[in-house]
Amino acid sequence: MNIIRLLSGFMADLTGVRTCPVCGRELLDGEEAICIGCLSTLPRTATQHMPGRYADIFANAVAPQGLTEAWFDYDPESPYAQIIRRAKYYDSPRLARTLGRAFGRELTHRYGTLPVDVLLPVPMHWIKRMRRSYNQSEEIAGGISETTGIPVGDNLTALHRHSTQTRKNNEARRANIKGTVGVDAPEELQGLRIAIVDDIVTTGATIAECVAALSLSGARPQTIGFITLGATYQRR
Ligand SMILES: [Zn+2]
Repeated sequence: MNIIRLLSGFMADLTGVRTCPVCGRELLDGEEAICIGCLSTLPRTATQHMPGRYADIFANAVAPQGLTEAWFDYDPESPYAQIIRRAKYYDSPRLARTLGRAFGRELTHRYGTLPVDVLLPVPMHWIKRMRRSYNQSEEIAGGISETTGIPVGDNLTALHRHSTQTRKNNEARRANIKGTVGVDAPEELQGLRIAIVDDIVTTGATIAECVAALSLSGARPQTIGFITLGATYQRR
């Protein structure tokens, strides 16, 4: 069933008909990215649990933990997982950006002005980027920026390639990604409230690597946090 839904969505994208990645229904005028029904039942993440759940990411950080937000609980078995899959693997930079915009709009409703000065997308190595043609984290950050007014910085860079993080436990993920992120012009980040942006947070290994890179670079931000579309329920 999932395969059929995915294929029909992919074909619909090719033919210019926009469909909801969750239920497969054709989107109406005014519906962005997902249909209004699926948007209303989106399993939104309980915001108050986020900081404690991912506190270890910031254990050795140079700055205190800032805003940590995820839009919805990510369960790979749920139809909602299609949102991330389509934004990431099906050549849908526009979908990734639209989802970022939608979440940015909800965050603005909740906070008014977000306690964030700069969005830093998780970087993608240029070889992978060339193959996929876009970095979904950059697109998501771009969408959040459009609805919140927070600028996107390009300070995080990918130094080396690493193999996929999928199907690895927390320890293996951290070892796999260690030393792969660099920081350009760390002095630009002095005193700023940073939010690292990614599509999904699972064990937090990728974001922890970005936090470690920021600390090693000599950057002196005011706080470091993150914003993702999905967060996994079971972390390990
Ligand atoms: Zn739908």
